[in-house]
Amino acid sequence: MDHIIIENLEVFGNHGVYAEEKKLGQKFLVSARLYLDLRTAGQCDDLESTVHYGKVSALIYDHMRQHSYQLIEAAAENIAKDILLKFNMVKKVELKIQKPWAPIGLPLEAVAVCIERGWHSVYLGMGSNMGDREDYLNSAIAAIDKRDDTFIGSISEYVESKPYKGMDQEDYLNGVCHIKTLMTPEELLLFLNETENEMGRERTTHWGARTLDLDILLYDDLVMDTEQLTIPHPELHKRDFVLVPICEIAPRLRHPVFNKTMSDLLLELKDRYVIE
Ligand code: AMP
Repeated sequence: MDHIIIENLEVFGNHGVYAEEKKLGQKFLVSARLYLDLRTAGQCDDLESTVHYGKVSALIYDHMRQHSYQLIEAAAENIAKDILLKFNMVKKVELKIQKPWAPIGLPLEAVAVCIERGWHSVYLGMGSNMGDREDYLNSAIAAIDKRDDTFIGSISEYVESKPYKGMDQEDYLNGVCHIKTLMTPEELLLFLNETENEMGRERTTHWGARTLDLDILLYDDLVMDTEQLTIPHPELHKRDFVLVPICEIAPRLRHPVFNKTMSDLLLELKDRYVIE
C-alpha cells in the first residue's frame, strides 16, 4: 500500500524512567510510515489530496516536547493515536521511537520501540428483549459515539424477531451497526460488556432475556478463536435477525471464512428454511 515516510525526526525530550532523564532530557529519533492512498494526489498534484508531512512532523515534535513519559512505548502509543485522529486520510501508521542515549551503562547504538496502529472496520450485532428495547439499542449507539477512538459508520433499521431456539421470552429488537475503531478485539469486547452491564444486563442463563446484547460480528477480515472471543461471530450465518440488517447496510461484505457475501448467506439461510 502507498505510504509516506518521515525518517529520524530529531527531538530533545524529557522521557524516561529515571528522574535524571526527566530533568536533563535527551535526544530521541522518531520515524513514521503513514499508509494512505496517494493515487489522487499523484494524478492531481494537489496537497489537499494527501497528508502534509510537515504537519505530521510538527505534531510528533510538539507531542514529544510537551509530554513527559516514563516509557517510549507510551509516547509511541499516544503519538500514533494523535496522527490517526487528526489526519483522517491515514489508515494505518507505523511508528518507531529511538533512544540513542539510553542510560543503561553499556555501549549500545540505540534502543527503539516500533508499533503499528490503524483503523479497523467492525460490524456489531445489537439485540434487546426487555423494557424499552429501542431505547437500549439507541443508548448502546450513544455510548459508542461518545468514544474518541471510534466512529459510527452506518446503522441498520431495527428488526423484530422471535426469541432464539423457541425460548419462552418477549420478542427481540435487533440491529447491526458498522463502526471504525482503534480498539483491539479484546478492548472492544471489554467495552461492549461494560456497556451491557451499564444497561442493567444480568447474565443468568446463556440464552436468557436481556436488556442489551452486543456482539462482534466481523472485525476486518480477522479470523480468531480464543476462549474469550470467536470472530467472525459463530452464529452470524445462522441468524436471519443478524443477516437481514447486515444485508441492509453491507450486502456485498464477504465472510472471511466461508468466502460468501452477506446476501449469499441470507439466501442460503432462507433456502434452508424452505427445505426444512
Ligand atoms: P452473550 O452476551 O450471551 O452473547 O455472550 C457473551 C460472551 O461470549 C462474551 O463475554 C465473550 O467472551 C463471548 N464471545 C465469544 N465470541 C464473541 C463475539 N464475537 N462477540 C461477543 N462476545 C463473544
